[in-house]
Amino acid sequence: MNEKYWGSVIFFKHLFISGFVLIFTLPIGVALYFWHVSEATSKELDHLQNNKSQTVRHAAAPVSGESPEYQKKYPELYAPVKKKQAIAENTAYLTFDDGPTVLTEYVLDVLKKYHIKATFFIIGEKLKTPSTHRVVKRIIDEGHSLGIHTDSHAYRKIYASVDDYLDDFAKAHERIRELTGQDTHIFRFPGGSINTYNGDIYPQLIAEMTRRGYVYFDWNISSGDCDNKTASAVYNNVMKQADKLTRSVILFHDSADKSITLSALPKLIESFQAKGVQFGTLTSEMYPVTFGYRY
Ligand code: ZN
Repeated sequence: MNEKYWGSVIFFKHLFISGFVLIFTLPIGVALYFWHVSEATSKELDHLQNNKSQTVRHAAAPVSGESPEYQKKYPELYAPVKKKQAIAENTAYLTFDDGPTVLTEYVLDVLKKYHIKATFFIIGEKLKTPSTHRVVKRIIDEGHSLGIHTDSHAYRKIYASVDDYLDDFAKAHERIRELTGQDTHIFRFPGGSINTYNGDIYPQLIAEMTRRGYVYFDWNISSGDCDNKTASAVYNNVMKQADKLTRSVILFHDSADKSITLSALPKLIESFQAKGVQFGTLTSEMYPVTFGYRY
Protein backbone atom coordinates (compact mmCIF):
# COMPACT_ATOMS: atom_id res chain seq x y z
CA MET A 1 0.00 0.00 0.00
CA ASN A 2 1.60 3.22 -1.05
CA GLU A 3 1.96 6.21 1.23
CA LYS A 4 -0.28 8.28 -0.96
CA TYR A 5 -3.31 6.14 0.17
CA TRP A 6 -3.25 7.32 3.83
CA GLY A 7 -5.01 10.65 4.01
CA SER A 8 -6.04 10.52 0.37
CA VAL A 9 -9.57 11.09 -0.85
CA ILE A 10 -9.89 7.34 -1.55
CA PHE A 11 -8.86 6.57 2.07
CA PHE A 12 -11.57 8.86 3.50
CA LYS A 13 -14.08 7.43 1.07
CA HIS A 14 -13.33 3.87 2.30
CA LEU A 15 -13.40 5.03 5.94
CA PHE A 16 -16.81 6.58 5.41
CA ILE A 17 -18.26 3.47 3.74
CA SER A 18 -16.87 1.15 6.49
CA GLY A 19 -18.36 3.34 9.25
CA PHE A 20 -21.67 3.49 7.42
CA VAL A 21 -21.83 -0.33 7.14
CA LEU A 22 -20.89 -0.77 10.84
CA ILE A 23 -23.55 1.68 12.06
CA PHE A 24 -26.29 -0.40 10.36
CA THR A 25 -25.07 -3.96 10.94
CA LEU A 26 -23.94 -3.71 14.59
CA PRO A 27 -27.40 -3.00 16.13
CA ILE A 28 -28.97 -5.79 14.03
CA GLY A 29 -26.33 -8.24 15.24
CA VAL A 30 -26.80 -7.22 18.88
CA ALA A 31 -30.60 -7.48 18.55
CA LEU A 32 -30.34 -10.97 17.01
CA TYR A 33 -28.07 -12.09 19.86
CA PHE A 34 -30.47 -10.98 22.61
CA TRP A 35 -33.46 -12.49 20.80
CA HIS A 36 -31.68 -15.85 20.71
CA VAL A 37 -30.84 -15.68 24.43
CA SER A 38 -34.40 -14.79 25.46
CA GLU A 39 -35.83 -17.58 23.24
CA ALA A 40 -33.54 -20.14 24.90
CA THR A 41 -34.54 -18.88 28.37
CA SER A 42 -38.26 -19.16 27.71
CA LYS A 43 -37.81 -22.69 26.35
CA GLU A 44 -35.94 -23.61 29.51
CA LEU A 45 -38.76 -22.17 31.63
CA ASP A 46 -41.36 -24.19 29.70
CA HIS A 47 -39.30 -27.30 30.24
CA LEU A 48 -39.04 -26.62 33.97
CA GLN A 49 -42.77 -25.99 34.25
CA ASN A 50 -43.57 -29.21 32.40
CA ASN A 51 -41.27 -31.10 34.73
CA LYS A 52 -42.88 -29.40 37.70
CA SER A 53 -46.41 -30.42 36.67
CA GLN A 54 -45.23 -33.98 36.08
CA THR A 55 -43.67 -34.02 39.52
CA VAL A 56 -46.92 -32.86 41.10
CA ARG A 57 -48.94 -35.33 39.06
CA HIS A 58 -46.93 -38.27 40.35
CA ALA A 59 -46.15 -36.90 43.78
CA ALA A 60 -47.96 -39.68 45.59
CA ALA A 61 -46.40 -42.53 43.62
CA PRO A 62 -43.96 -44.65 45.63
CA VAL A 63 -40.45 -43.24 45.21
CA SER A 64 -38.76 -46.63 45.07
CA GLY A 65 -41.11 -47.91 42.35
CA GLU A 66 -42.38 -50.65 44.68
CA SER A 67 -46.07 -51.28 45.34
CA PRO A 68 -47.64 -49.29 48.17
CA GLU A 69 -47.75 -51.16 51.51
CA TYR A 70 -51.55 -51.03 51.63
CA GLN A 71 -51.70 -53.46 48.72
CA LYS A 72 -50.48 -56.16 51.12
CA LYS A 73 -53.32 -55.56 53.60
CA TYR A 74 -56.37 -57.80 53.72
CA PRO A 75 -55.19 -60.56 51.35
CA GLU A 76 -58.73 -61.97 51.35
CA LEU A 77 -60.36 -58.67 50.40
CA TYR A 78 -60.65 -59.24 46.65
CA ALA A 79 -63.64 -59.53 44.36
CA PRO A 80 -63.59 -61.64 41.21
CA VAL A 81 -63.14 -59.40 38.18
CA LYS A 82 -66.29 -59.78 36.12
CA LYS A 83 -66.69 -59.29 32.41
CA LYS A 84 -68.59 -56.05 31.93
CA GLN A 85 -71.83 -56.39 29.99
CA ALA A 86 -73.18 -53.98 27.45
CA ILE A 87 -74.72 -50.82 28.84
CA ALA A 88 -78.49 -51.23 29.24
CA GLU A 89 -80.38 -48.38 27.66
CA ASN A 90 -83.73 -46.96 28.63
CA THR A 91 -83.14 -48.08 32.20
CA ALA A 92 -83.34 -46.30 35.55
CA TYR A 93 -81.51 -47.46 38.66
CA LEU A 94 -82.97 -46.24 41.94
CA THR A 95 -80.23 -46.19 44.58
CA PHE A 96 -80.71 -45.56 48.29
CA ASP A 97 -77.75 -44.53 50.48
CA ASP A 98 -77.21 -44.46 54.25
CA GLY A 99 -79.64 -47.17 55.39
CA PRO A 100 -80.93 -49.28 56.86
CA THR A 101 -83.26 -47.01 58.82
CA VAL A 102 -86.89 -46.97 59.88
CA LEU A 103 -87.66 -45.62 56.40
CA THR A 104 -86.25 -48.61 54.50
CA GLU A 105 -89.21 -50.93 55.00
CA TYR A 106 -91.59 -48.29 53.65
CA VAL A 107 -89.35 -47.85 50.60
CA LEU A 108 -89.35 -51.64 50.14
CA ASP A 109 -93.15 -51.64 50.33
CA VAL A 110 -93.38 -49.07 47.50
CA LEU A 111 -90.93 -51.00 45.34
CA LYS A 112 -92.90 -54.20 45.97
CA LYS A 113 -96.16 -52.54 45.03
CA TYR A 114 -94.72 -51.52 41.63
CA HIS A 115 -92.83 -54.82 41.15
CA ILE A 116 -89.52 -53.06 40.64
CA LYS A 117 -86.01 -53.61 41.99
CA ALA A 118 -83.51 -51.12 43.37
CA THR A 119 -80.06 -50.90 44.99
CA PHE A 120 -79.29 -50.16 48.64
CA PHE A 121 -75.84 -48.90 49.68
CA ILE A 122 -75.82 -49.58 53.39
CA ILE A 123 -73.70 -48.49 56.34
CA GLY A 124 -72.06 -51.30 58.34
CA GLU A 125 -72.31 -49.69 61.77
CA LYS A 126 -76.08 -49.47 61.46
CA LEU A 127 -76.37 -53.27 61.41
CA LYS A 128 -76.59 -53.70 65.15
CA THR A 129 -80.23 -54.35 65.90
CA PRO A 130 -82.59 -57.21 65.01
CA SER A 131 -84.81 -54.77 63.11
CA THR A 132 -81.92 -53.70 60.82
CA HIS A 133 -81.08 -57.38 60.28
CA ARG A 134 -84.66 -58.01 59.25
CA VAL A 135 -84.55 -55.09 56.78
CA VAL A 136 -81.33 -56.33 55.17
CA LYS A 137 -82.81 -59.80 54.85
CA ARG A 138 -85.85 -58.30 53.15
CA ILE A 139 -83.64 -56.33 50.71
CA ILE A 140 -81.98 -59.58 49.63
CA ASP A 141 -85.06 -61.82 49.68
CA GLU A 142 -87.04 -59.37 47.57
CA GLY A 143 -84.36 -59.33 44.85
CA HIS A 144 -82.76 -55.94 45.38
CA SER A 145 -79.06 -55.28 45.13
CA LEU A 146 -76.93 -54.66 48.22
CA GLY A 147 -73.82 -52.47 48.17
CA ILE A 148 -71.34 -51.20 50.76
CA HIS A 149 -71.42 -47.56 51.82
CA THR A 150 -68.56 -47.84 54.36
CA ASP A 151 -68.80 -48.98 57.94
CA SER A 152 -68.69 -45.64 59.77
CA HIS A 153 -69.56 -43.05 57.07
CA ALA A 154 -67.19 -40.72 58.98
CA TYR A 155 -65.66 -38.65 56.17
CA ARG A 156 -62.58 -37.38 57.99
CA LYS A 157 -61.72 -40.82 59.30
CA ILE A 158 -62.22 -42.88 56.15
CA TYR A 159 -60.59 -40.37 53.81
CA ALA A 160 -57.54 -39.71 56.00
CA SER A 161 -55.59 -42.25 53.90
CA VAL A 162 -56.03 -45.28 51.65
CA ASP A 163 -55.17 -47.45 54.67
CA ASP A 164 -57.96 -45.88 56.71
CA TYR A 165 -60.46 -46.38 53.93
CA LEU A 166 -59.45 -50.05 53.53
CA ASP A 167 -59.75 -50.66 57.29
CA ASP A 168 -63.25 -49.23 57.28
CA PHE A 169 -64.33 -51.02 54.08
CA ALA A 170 -63.02 -54.39 55.32
CA LYS A 171 -65.08 -53.99 58.50
CA ALA A 172 -68.30 -53.28 56.59
CA HIS A 173 -67.63 -56.06 54.10
CA GLU A 174 -67.11 -58.60 56.89
CA ARG A 175 -70.14 -57.40 58.85
CA ILE A 176 -72.40 -57.82 55.80
CA ARG A 177 -70.87 -61.21 54.97
CA GLU A 178 -71.47 -62.48 58.52
CA LEU A 179 -75.05 -61.25 58.53
CA THR A 180 -76.13 -62.28 55.04
CA GLY A 181 -73.54 -64.73 53.76
CA GLN A 182 -73.15 -62.39 50.77
CA ASP A 183 -69.75 -61.43 49.40
CA THR A 184 -70.68 -57.90 48.29
CA HIS A 185 -68.78 -56.60 45.26
CA ILE A 186 -70.27 -53.18 44.69
CA PHE A 187 -69.91 -50.06 46.76
CA ARG A 188 -70.44 -46.32 46.83
CA PHE A 189 -68.04 -43.79 48.31
CA PRO A 190 -69.71 -41.45 50.83
CA GLY A 191 -69.92 -38.09 49.03
CA GLY A 192 -69.14 -39.82 45.72
CA SER A 193 -65.75 -40.96 44.44
CA ILE A 194 -64.40 -37.39 44.33
CA ASN A 195 -65.36 -35.08 47.14
CA THR A 196 -63.95 -32.32 49.30
CA TYR A 197 -62.58 -34.81 51.85
CA ASN A 198 -60.59 -37.16 49.60
CA GLY A 199 -58.94 -34.66 47.25
CA ASP A 200 -55.43 -35.80 48.27
CA ILE A 201 -55.99 -39.54 47.91
CA TYR A 202 -58.80 -40.26 45.48
CA PRO A 203 -56.61 -41.41 42.52
CA GLN A 204 -54.79 -43.92 44.76
CA LEU A 205 -58.00 -44.90 46.54
CA ILE A 206 -59.97 -45.54 43.34
CA ALA A 207 -57.00 -47.43 41.87
CA GLU A 208 -56.67 -49.63 44.95
CA MET A 209 -60.36 -50.51 45.20
CA THR A 210 -60.52 -51.21 41.46
CA ARG A 211 -57.33 -53.32 41.65
CA ARG A 212 -59.10 -55.43 44.28
CA GLY A 213 -62.01 -56.02 41.89
CA TYR A 214 -64.65 -53.93 43.69
CA VAL A 215 -66.89 -51.81 41.50
CA TYR A 216 -68.00 -48.39 42.67
CA PHE A 217 -70.98 -46.43 41.44
CA ASP A 218 -71.41 -42.69 41.57
CA TRP A 219 -74.61 -41.27 40.09
CA ASN A 220 -75.69 -39.16 37.13
CA ILE A 221 -78.87 -37.87 38.78
CA SER A 222 -78.96 -36.50 42.29
CA SER A 223 -82.54 -36.45 43.54
CA GLY A 224 -81.67 -33.48 45.73
CA ASP A 225 -83.60 -35.04 48.62
CA CYS A 226 -81.09 -33.47 51.01
CA ASP A 227 -81.67 -29.93 49.75
CA ASN A 228 -85.23 -29.94 48.42
CA LYS A 229 -88.02 -29.35 50.89
CA THR A 230 -90.91 -31.05 49.13
CA ALA A 231 -91.63 -34.31 47.33
CA SER A 232 -92.71 -32.41 44.20
CA ALA A 233 -89.37 -30.54 44.14
CA VAL A 234 -87.57 -33.91 44.29
CA TYR A 235 -89.83 -35.27 41.54
CA ASN A 236 -89.25 -32.27 39.25
CA ASN A 237 -85.53 -32.33 39.89
CA VAL A 238 -85.20 -36.00 38.92
CA MET A 239 -87.44 -35.88 35.84
CA LYS A 240 -85.72 -32.76 34.48
CA GLN A 241 -82.36 -34.56 34.52
CA ALA A 242 -83.71 -37.94 33.40
CA ASP A 243 -85.07 -36.47 30.17
CA LYS A 244 -81.48 -36.04 28.92
CA LEU A 245 -80.30 -39.56 29.77
CA THR A 246 -80.86 -43.08 28.43
CA ARG A 247 -79.41 -44.65 31.59
CA SER A 248 -80.15 -43.00 34.93
CA VAL A 249 -78.44 -43.86 38.20
CA ILE A 250 -80.44 -41.86 40.71
CA LEU A 251 -79.17 -40.99 44.16
CA PHE A 252 -81.68 -41.01 47.03
CA HIS A 253 -81.07 -41.03 50.76
CA ASP A 254 -82.55 -43.71 52.95
CA SER A 255 -82.51 -41.67 56.15
CA ALA A 256 -85.11 -41.57 58.89
CA ASP A 257 -85.89 -37.90 58.16
CA LYS A 258 -86.32 -38.34 54.39
CA SER A 259 -90.05 -38.84 54.18
CA ILE A 260 -90.08 -36.62 51.07
CA THR A 261 -88.02 -39.29 49.30
CA LEU A 262 -90.69 -41.83 50.12
CA SER A 263 -93.50 -39.48 49.06
CA ALA A 264 -91.82 -38.69 45.73
CA LEU A 265 -91.26 -42.35 44.77
CA PRO A 266 -94.71 -43.47 43.48
CA LYS A 267 -95.11 -40.58 41.02
CA LEU A 268 -91.49 -40.93 39.89
CA ILE A 269 -91.88 -44.65 39.24
CA GLU A 270 -95.16 -44.13 37.38
CA SER A 271 -93.63 -41.40 35.19
CA PHE A 272 -90.66 -43.57 34.25
CA GLN A 273 -92.94 -46.51 33.50
CA ALA A 274 -95.20 -44.30 31.37
CA LYS A 275 -92.15 -43.44 29.26
CA GLY A 276 -91.36 -47.14 28.83
CA VAL A 277 -88.27 -46.96 31.07
CA GLN A 278 -87.44 -50.18 32.92
CA PHE A 279 -85.87 -50.44 36.38
CA GLY A 280 -82.68 -52.35 37.10
CA THR A 281 -80.33 -53.21 39.93
CA LEU A 282 -76.64 -52.34 40.00
CA THR A 283 -74.22 -55.27 39.82
CA SER A 284 -70.48 -55.70 39.34
CA GLU A 285 -71.14 -57.01 35.81
CA MET A 286 -72.41 -53.69 34.49
CA TYR A 287 -70.48 -50.67 33.35
CA PRO A 288 -70.51 -48.31 36.30
CA VAL A 289 -71.55 -44.69 36.22
CA THR A 290 -68.65 -42.75 37.70
CA PHE A 291 -67.51 -39.16 37.97
CA GLY A 292 -64.76 -38.19 35.52
CA TYR A 293 -61.40 -37.42 37.07
CA ARG A 294 -57.82 -36.69 36.09
CA TYR A 295 -54.59 -37.63 37.77
ZN1 ZN B 1 -73.92 -41.46 52.42
